[in-house]
Amino acid sequence: MKNTPLIAPFSLKEPLKGSEDTGQHFIGKNPLEIGGEILVKMGLTNTSPIKAIRKNCVECSGGSPKEARLCVHTGCPLWPFRMGKSPYRQKSKSKINGGKDA
Ligand code: SF4
Repeated sequence: MKNTPLIAPFSLKEPLKGSEDTGQHFIGKNPLEIGGEILVKMGLTNTSPIKAIRKNCVECSGGSPKEARLCVHTGCPLWPFRMGKSPYRQKSKSKINGGKDA
């Protein structure tokens, strides 16, 4: 996976529908109102939420996929998705309690 810094690919100085003018920036742009076609033209990559989470986790881990895998912050809401797939769509490959039923 390509590691790129999380910086805004477009200017916050441009007004878009739904944005509020702070005097310095137009904030609060709603991507649902902007639409995917314009987002891509603005320089964002069309990606799935799960791939965006994976990218965020690698960035959070200093750009290291290995460190993202080793993340110990199990309370983070992104933790179950940090490998780039939803565990809720996978069959379990391991057992809890050492393989004994609870
Ligand atoms: S699960 Fe949370 S704390 Fe861990 S790498 Fe992802 S974003 Fe960072």
